[in-house]
Amino acid sequence: MLYTSTRGDTPAVTASQAILQGLAPDGGLYVPREAITPGNPTRLPGDYRELAATLLTPFLSGFQPETVKRAIYAAYSPENFSPREVTPLVKIAPQLHILELWHGPGAAFKDLALQLLPRLMASALASRSEEEQVLILVATSGDTGKSALEGFRDVPGISLVVYYPQTGVSPVQERQMTTQEGDNLAVVAVRGNFDDAQGGVKTIFGNGQLADSLGKKGYLLSSANSINWGRLLPQVVYYFFAYHCLVERGEITAGEAVTFAVPTGNFGNILAGFYARTLGLPVRRLVCAANANKVLADFMGEGLYNARRPFHRTLSPSMDILVSSNMERLLYHASGDKPAQVASWIKLLQEKGAYQVDNETLGSIKEVFWSGHATDEETLKVMAGTYRENGYLLDPHTAVARAVLDRYVAEEDDDSTKVILSTASPFKFPGSVARALFPEESSKALSEFALLETIARKTGLPVPRGLVGLTEKPLRHGRVINAEEMGETLSEVIPLPSSRR
Ligand SMILES: *Cc1c(COP(=O)(O)O)cnc(C)c1O
Repeated sequence: MLYTSTRGDTPAVTASQAILQGLAPDGGLYVPREAITPGNPTRLPGDYRELAATLLTPFLSGFQPETVKRAIYAAYSPENFSPREVTPLVKIAPQLHILELWHGPGAAFKDLALQLLPRLMASALASRSEEEQVLILVATSGDTGKSALEGFRDVPGISLVVYYPQTGVSPVQERQMTTQEGDNLAVVAVRGNFDDAQGGVKTIFGNGQLADSLGKKGYLLSSANSINWGRLLPQVVYYFFAYHCLVERGEITAGEAVTFAVPTGNFGNILAGFYARTLGLPVRRLVCAANANKVLADFMGEGLYNARRPFHRTLSPSMDILVSSNMERLLYHASGDKPAQVASWIKLLQEKGAYQVDNETLGSIKEVFWSGHATDEETLKVMAGTYRENGYLLDPHTAVARAVLDRYVAEEDDDSTKVILSTASPFKFPGSVARALFPEESSKALSEFALLETIARKTGLPVPRGLVGLTEKPLRHGRVINAEEMGETLSEVIPLPSSRR
């Protein structure tokens, strides 16, 4: 499989090149150039690692199949993901299942891609000139940061700078990042919201002068945000895995269509579901769940993507996003592979903050996707209700997905089995969990870290390994800057990559 840019103006590249570069040279995102042909999804292996190797290898041109397999086995090892299934599927009600994607080191779904991507990147780098080093810049709405730090820690030849919005992440998320160990890593807080941090990174990527001067120092700039194909691709696997579990347990018959609900921000997770469907997975509908920043829900209703609106800080901070980067990939596929058309929409978004797609494109999006939003109040209600009635603890992001799925079921005629993708451990958001479940504790003004212990005690659930003892760890990162300073301060914050040998 070769890859081309969504904006069309570049030569086709291998997966290995696409993963190293992150962004295409014309500013577009890499997408598969050839048609994806549906395989036979019911004859796939049931073991997560074997399944990943089978599904991903054909997409990873430029890598040796043995290299891919080794990377997969290392990424999804029992040390990184303790459950044997890697992503366990839990039934909480008739025809309603939760796919737990947060058993990795960062306790969020981003670990699934960010354990594999650095290994692939290191192998792609190893086949290039000896002097080159990769510098990865990441903007995070909270979870990508920690997952990327864990994934890239001590990877030879690669250094990583993570930018997070100073007031946009939960205290647990912040502490996970600021206590991170590893000499090739830096963490910087940015005054502003996620879009400011992401905008700053995009500006650095677009700054030819800066890229040149980094190039002279032997640095190749790249991204580990979901604009990188290597972030998106590994996520296809767990859609198939969930489906396999349902068939194996007799919940559905092979070939029966399933509806997936996905808490959505940058549109990366749910887009992997779109690719899974293109690969032949029987998907009835992909329910795209948004919070009060409901750009996507409005877009999928009217076809107008309008980012000119107030930004809301919600209880699901990892979805507080107005510019969903991966929408560009969906636009490319839904418009029938028209790069010039995509480029003109994105130009309008950049210049005017909005664009309107044609009815045909909107129609083909609506065939697959349905979108709605949930308020903070609804989110808390769903968290409390799911705990009370189903005995299952949801984090606020997953609760948004359930709230929107409930609305979808009420409004649309869909009696298929439903799977909700659970994107984070509830222990990453103890303040919100306590507010929903234990209001009397939450009113005591305890710290988030004290609430974490309280929730563990009251629910009897285990605290994920990566979140144990966070308050005792020494702070290792504390720099705070303005978004406009990201470029000029970059050379001061770049950590030294560990040797490629
Ligand atoms: C990143 C994130 C999301 C949004 O995922 P996208 O791929 O950006 O749409 C949702 N929930 C949690 C917990 C996340 O960390």
